[in-house]
Amino acid sequence: MTPHGPDLLHDPLLNHGTAHTREERERHGLRGLLPHQVIPQEVQEARVLENVRAAATDLSRYTILTNLQDRNESLFYRVVTDHVEEMMPIMYTPTVGQACLKFSHIFRRARGMYITAEDRGSVAELLANWPREDVRVIVVTDGERILGLGDLGANGMGIPIGKLSLYTACAGIDPATTLPITIDVGTNNQDLVDDPFYVGMKEPRLRGEAYDALLDEFMEAVTTRFPRALVQFEDFGNANAFRLLRRYRDRYCTFNDDIQGTASVALAGVLSALRVTGGTLADQRFLFHGAGGAGLGIATLIAAAMVEEGLTTAEARSRCWFVDSRGLVVASRTDLTENKRPFAHEAVHAPDLLGAVEEVRPTFLVGVSGQHGAFTQEVVRRMAELNERPVIFALSNPTSKAECTAARAYEWTEGRAVFSSGSPFSPVEYRGRTLVPGQGNNAYIFPGVGLGVTAVEAARVTDEMFMVAARTLADLVSKEQLASGSLYPPLRDIREVSARIAVAVAELAHDQGLARVPRPADLGARVRERMWSPVY
Ligand code: NAD
Repeated sequence: MTPHGPDLLHDPLLNHGTAHTREERERHGLRGLLPHQVIPQEVQEARVLENVRAAATDLSRYTILTNLQDRNESLFYRVVTDHVEEMMPIMYTPTVGQACLKFSHIFRRARGMYITAEDRGSVAELLANWPREDVRVIVVTDGERILGLGDLGANGMGIPIGKLSLYTACAGIDPATTLPITIDVGTNNQDLVDDPFYVGMKEPRLRGEAYDALLDEFMEAVTTRFPRALVQFEDFGNANAFRLLRRYRDRYCTFNDDIQGTASVALAGVLSALRVTGGTLADQRFLFHGAGGAGLGIATLIAAAMVEEGLTTAEARSRCWFVDSRGLVVASRTDLTENKRPFAHEAVHAPDLLGAVEEVRPTFLVGVSGQHGAFTQEVVRRMAELNERPVIFALSNPTSKAECTAARAYEWTEGRAVFSSGSPFSPVEYRGRTLVPGQGNNAYIFPGVGLGVTAVEAARVTDEMFMVAARTLADLVSKEQLASGSLYPPLRDIREVSARIAVAVAELAHDQGLARVPRPADLGARVRERMWSPVY
């Protein structure tokens, strides 16, 4: 039943504020509770934009927008959807990073659910408190590795909230069916423990069997309570991210965006870059700076794509190299984790990135280490000596962690670099040309994948889905966009991009026998019909 009077105005999913028509005001007991004017949504939108643009900092813009989201979700999504290029850096990286750092200080109203280490044994009971039955997309974090910012504990909740906003803005996932969750297992960040405003549990992080038992209980309870939901893991620490993915991927409808979503958007960037540099994927040599979830995920998907092009798995892996905090990852090292082993090749150990570039002579250099400035002038210049069109991906987020800026990559390579970043960089003027660096934003991939998976209620999320998403994305980049330096389509086209990816993923889910609904005559129409619109 639709709530009445003030209850309706306090429900962000139903409240349209001053846009409620005379008839709605009469019907829902709103007369006298709103000022006289009935203000159309586009005028409300203009008013919000005026306020957002007048704000002094991005963090205050973020606060204005999240406050609006807490009052009137349709209007919030109208603003974000109509101005996605302007709003994405505020709602997501880089500003969301600042918002997470300050989360407990700017905290106003709880959104989503918090499950703590103390809730072991009663997670199902707690999930029963969520007021809506039909949940389709859940984003969950334990806050251990928020962007490149490290352990932010419960402050990391800004990430699931932000990612779900992107699901709605970019792919039209109905916000009423989304649920952000933080598993608060404590924090080892002393600054948070010392902060009187910190909203999370002030205990050392739960580890080992107790942690696994909580996560197992959570996965079982959440998929029982919401059987049609896709569960996206986000910003877990490196040690847990892979383990949990392996543990759950064949049991539940789940994926890890840092590993698989990143891999897909990066592979799309690689395929686009090859259209600029020429050559086949199988001919390339990739050097990754950083051997965490993002880097290993990207290398694994690139290797799988090389196998599709005819290489053996061993040959494909031998074209992907890593540098971690101890230098080049080579077979003779005894300090490697299991995840790095497949990419540890026979070679002389180089202690640093420059030495590794010398040893590997890569065609692609990919930064996923969260180490600001790691791509030094010497490293980038050496890439430019080795390659006519060196490909430089500085993917670490937020902007302050990028391995190299777009301007430097162009300057140090006389404008020859094919550059892409994780956080946005403005266009760069270089010798009379305007170069538009592409942003390898995961938002190109996960909303479309999520839309496709939920449209057909896929039982599992497969690597092939991320592969098909990458190829679909790369095919949507025009020649003109490539010529201006951009490896991705403009963000303003994101809803169409997501719809195309969703259709490809949904098709594949049917082909792989994973869809739990019958195949409709027109799958494209079925997917598009599910896209929620914020217009009222
Ligand atoms: P992670 O913590 O799992 O991995 C980071 C890796 O970098 C670790 O292997 C660590 O050993 C290595 N490292 C640290 N210092 C180093 C040094 N000095 N030299 C070489 N290696 C070093 O994190 P992750 O999930 O792999 O993410 C890494 C970065 O990538 C983050 O900044 C994240 O924001 C970014 N990222 C970007 C995108 C994107 O652009 N689409 C997506 C996901 C992650």
